[in-house]
Amino acid sequence: MPLIDKQALLRYVLPTYGEQEQERVAAAAQMPERAGRPEPWGVLYASPNPDQSRKACANCIMWIPTGECDIHAPGVQVAGYAVCGYHVFGQPLPARVPRKDIQYVEPEYSGLMTIPGGTNCARCRWFNEADPMMLDRGLCLAVDDPSGAPAPVEAGGCCARWQSSETGR
Ligand code: SF4
Ligand code: SF4
Repeated sequence: MPLIDKQALLRYVLPTYGEQEQERVAAAAQMPERAGRPEPWGVLYASPNPDQSRKACANCIMWIPTGECDIHAPGVQVAGYAVCGYHVFGQPLPARVPRKDIQYVEPEYSGLMTIPGGTNCARCRWFNEADPMMLDRGLCLAVDDPSGAPAPVEAGGCCARWQSSETGR
């Protein structure tokens, strides 16, 4: 299915814009609809946690065990079994680090989600076990290698494009 319904865009959205905006949107609507799949660096792919645990806030260096995250604003609730696209494996912080002029990450853009049990490629809907003999590896159907083929990924790895293999969300 195309990402943009051009007819709906032209019929309903365009008339609400000014003349300059209308020209820009009309030009964009003529562009090809797909940009291709990203490579692993474009989705912040991370190798498996060294201790083989799944990715979760409780094993991220930005987590504060009071239930917050050092790169999300104070007051944003971050459970130990949540995770976001900025995960970095390591020891959580003992307390929020005092900083000046920090621009906090916004939860709607960091991908912050509550995922009991944590995330990894093996729990992602895009993970494909290409070779049943290679249990710790597979091919990703959402991320390409530089040749344009599905990228090889590790079952314990993860990226910002993770989607649940159970719910598809
Ligand atoms: S919200 Fe993201 S950056 Fe913050 S502790 Fe969780 S995984 Fe780490
Ligand atoms: S299988 Fe899922 S989590 Fe792993 S690299 Fe692909 S999209 Fe990302």
